[in-house]
Amino acid sequence: MASRNGNKKGFYDEAMERFHGAADLIGMNPRVRMELEEPDFEHIFYVTIETRDRLVPLTAEEQVKAGKLAPSDVKAAGALEPLANGQFILHRRALLEADITTRDRVINIPGKGLFRFQRGGPKKFKAYRIQHNQVRGPYKGGIRYHKDASLDLFKTLAADMTWKTAIAEIPFGGAKGGIRIDPFNYSREEIEHLTLRYVYKFKKFMGPFIDIPAPDVGTNGEIMAYMMRQFTDGEREHHMLRGVVTGKDVRIGGSEGRVKATGQGVVYCIEEWARERGFALKGARVIIQGFGNVGSNAAEILSALGAKIVAVNDADGTVHKDGGLDVAALVHHVHGDPANLRRTVAGFPGGTAISKDDFWGVDADLCIPAALGEEITGPVAERLKVKLVAEAANGPTTREGDRVLAARKIEVIPDIICNAGGVTVSYYEWLQNQRLEHWTESEVNRRLEQAIKKNYAIIRDIAQNRPQKTSTWDSRPFCVGKETDVRTAAMILALKRIEAHYLLEGFSQ
Ligand code: NAD
Repeated sequence: MASRNGNKKGFYDEAMERFHGAADLIGMNPRVRMELEEPDFEHIFYVTIETRDRLVPLTAEEQVKAGKLAPSDVKAAGALEPLANGQFILHRRALLEADITTRDRVINIPGKGLFRFQRGGPKKFKAYRIQHNQVRGPYKGGIRYHKDASLDLFKTLAADMTWKTAIAEIPFGGAKGGIRIDPFNYSREEIEHLTLRYVYKFKKFMGPFIDIPAPDVGTNGEIMAYMMRQFTDGEREHHMLRGVVTGKDVRIGGSEGRVKATGQGVVYCIEEWARERGFALKGARVIIQGFGNVGSNAAEILSALGAKIVAVNDADGTVHKDGGLDVAALVHHVHGDPANLRRTVAGFPGGTAISKDDFWGVDADLCIPAALGEEITGPVAERLKVKLVAEAANGPTTREGDRVLAARKIEVIPDIICNAGGVTVSYYEWLQNQRLEHWTESEVNRRLEQAIKKNYAIIRDIAQNRPQKTSTWDSRPFCVGKETDVRTAAMILALKRIEAHYLLEGFSQ
């Protein structure tokens, strides 16, 4: 089967099968279907940067070959910037006043080990921005820096954004993009330069009313600040352009509540699911995959509601504690400790290390995948011992995984509603930027809760074929006369809202 993580072809086509299934159910206009089945634009370009010199640790074999080497006295050792891959960026000031000995470009730094000097130089990276659809508003979607980024992946994620912005009822379209890079292997300065080059090349296709990036895997508010600076630099009315990116720091035009928003939206969905079933979140057992922005915030919010986070898995390890992990301590271990360069849960002293395989089999009520796509495969779905999978990540469940979950009666809250909190608060940030306003966190959360719960209810009504008008929502225009699975129901809601634009506005010829 094709892979969402980009190592095989054809994933986009597979992901679009759900689109076509829902389009058939609503009898979608054929011209509208054609407009939506491929992206408006696929931008593929290259960015180059000048990389810094590095110190690369010798392998065990190389160390034997290097033999004895006098230690070098590097006084400004703090100027050696550690990277998560074990290398050090060699800032030139590190060698000021140093008393060094080298042989065959090898240096012995006390307390750090034997390294080989590696010259930096120009390096080229493949960059993407897929603009899927803009009929409902400017293109909107995250920027991902990841080693497996690919055209197929970004096409899929860009289309997901078109559906998600329609479900969230915000006036944006869908886009996604980023750079094929492993950010752990580069310094902050190199990432900054790469980001500036990305915007330098893409500037003519971006703007607060054209295409609005946001953080995704491997990027954050700092990177959004670089993007905003590069985009607005030298512009006459640069304050009016702050809405060119969202997910910024609150001190430079970001919104209160944006950092937490995706995790918060996930929890609002889970609360609705629990309320309908009379299920108590207090004491509920939760397993979470991914402890980055989304996973860690969902964990904090859920644990404040009394849930127990019993296991967390990430790219570098898994921790488990049957009585519930101390979430604040885990957040500190991952995000508050500068020595934890890979920002991983591995090594957390407040839990036991278990294998990824065992993680999926931990006895729990809720499973929150908040890492990458395609993690809940058929065999993983067979192992899960939970009642609900709340898809915080984009595309975490494979087709086969879906079939197994359905057969095992494990419920799913699909990604396009479950993680829509991020883009919803991005819209609030954009609105605040346009109005030069600053809202409180409680104002942001009040609006977010209303928006998520209302659209969650409409999707539930579509799935159960229960058209109704209440004081807060009206699902009558969206129900299709028969029950559907909840993923198809979410897609129906998106497609009906998008189709209305084409049908009411018509096509320019
Ligand atoms: P992040 O970069 O902050 O964190 C990613 C996490 O996933 C890390 O803990 C990492 O270790 C883990 N991970 C990576 N590869 C893994 C693997 N092979 N196995 C297990 N864990 C792995 O990213 P994020 O912003 O938290 O995004 C997480 C997911 O949520 C992504 O699918 C993203 O598209 C989706 N999402 C994010 C937002 C947002 O606002 N940030 C909004 C909507 C959806």
